[in-house]
Amino acid sequence: MIVNKFGGTSVGDAGRFANVADIVAGQHAQTLGAVRGVPVVVVSAMATVTNQLLDGAWAAADGDVETFQSTKAALLDKHLQVVDALLRGSPDRIEVGGFVEDRLGELDRLYRSIAVLGEVTVRGLDTVASFGEQLSSTILAAVLRDRGVRAEAIHAAEVVVTDDQFGQAAPLMGRTRDRLQRRVLPLIDRGVVPVITGFIGATERGVTTTLGRGGSDFSAAIIGAGLDADEVWIWSDVDGILTADPNIVPQARTLSELSYTEAANLAYYGASVLHPKTIRPVIERGIPLRIVNSFSPTHPGTLIVETPSEGRDLLPAIISTTGLSLIAIGSHDDARGSGGWTLETAARALQRLDEAGVYVPMFSQSFSEHSLNLVVRKQDQARCLAILCREFATDREDSTCSLGVNEDVATISVVGVPGWNEMGIVSHAFAALGNHHTRVIAVAQAATEYSVSFCVPEDQMTEAVRYLHCELGLER
Ligand code: ASP
Ligand code: MG
Repeated sequence: MIVNKFGGTSVGDAGRFANVADIVAGQHAQTLGAVRGVPVVVVSAMATVTNQLLDGAWAAADGDVETFQSTKAALLDKHLQVVDALLRGSPDRIEVGGFVEDRLGELDRLYRSIAVLGEVTVRGLDTVASFGEQLSSTILAAVLRDRGVRAEAIHAAEVVVTDDQFGQAAPLMGRTRDRLQRRVLPLIDRGVVPVITGFIGATERGVTTTLGRGGSDFSAAIIGAGLDADEVWIWSDVDGILTADPNIVPQARTLSELSYTEAANLAYYGASVLHPKTIRPVIERGIPLRIVNSFSPTHPGTLIVETPSEGRDLLPAIISTTGLSLIAIGSHDDARGSGGWTLETAARALQRLDEAGVYVPMFSQSFSEHSLNLVVRKQDQARCLAILCREFATDREDSTCSLGVNEDVATISVVGVPGWNEMGIVSHAFAALGNHHTRVIAVAQAATEYSVSFCVPEDQMTEAVRYLHCELGLER
């Protein structure tokens, strides 16, 4: 049995839904008759839907009725378009259309209560965010049935049991496994394809939780582990994990095989095709993971296993991330030992941001200049500044700290493999960026000698990545 996860872009519109249904129907036909052969599907919300849902909740908390109502209307329209396009002649059409209207009616009631309260809790946000996957899974199951594949949508709140850390819940694997075996295996045994919502879980008492943004990959790994799947396939829109983002470097090469540890490292550095939490559940059961392309289903993609084959190509990868801003905390108190200042300030800043759920993908410090650089997502910038201003009282005249912002930055990480090249990846990458005259705003190096991250102006990122890719000899 293969657990297949399809992300938001894979179900971005009616055409993409149809493509996913083709892939699943193809797999289903191939496995006909095999014991426990039917594919399992884990699906994300349609692209942008989770953001829209959450933006609607923030608007509701601000009392902005017009915005949350238009959010709801836009979501209704988006999903009904898919229903109309793909289920035109299907007996399920009325029921699925009704389900979409019903769920979004419930969303509207939820938004109204948030507006009355004038605030929204993380717990409330999880319930709001869970609507996207409920809609996409119900539609996908119906589209499969319309093609003659028996399929049933399953709300993961029924099967993925988590703790109550809303917004970032962790699965309770034993309970989850029991539920999966009881609820999902009988379907598989009857030849029915389960279409399970990604991203969502519920506490033992049944309160909806989410596993964190981008968490559907993690869901697939949890479900694969709980069902003892043969493999877990993450369907994305590129040919696996590559030496660079192929949208930037068309000649980028697929890393055909990786170990669990290497893949986890790349995911940690921001390889967007794989959520960093995905590896752990599959490692524990030794289940192979594949990253494949839903736009090009015959491409083998990247295989991730415990022990990759000996003859594989060992290549470094360049991972780039945009949509970031850099926040600098500076000190004007020269009297204090600078090392002590930076460490203490760093600890306080990182702790406060962590408590507020702000993700800090990169962090660096300069002891001599008494300054600290924090890279955060642009959408977190305002919240992050408010938190740091409160923590360090930077708005007070006698404050010893100042805050600066550098909007529109990007990070470029070069994640190498030991022994790949004699000069070492770090100095090689530095030299290349120097030759290219890229403005490097901040640098962070891993404890290992073969990974390094640069923060650069966003508008220089594309060129710098192309240059680096060529300079590191990754072009064939
Ligand atoms: N829909 C969720 C999100 O946007 C989960 C996912 O796409 O993996 O974060
Ligand atoms: Mg994703």
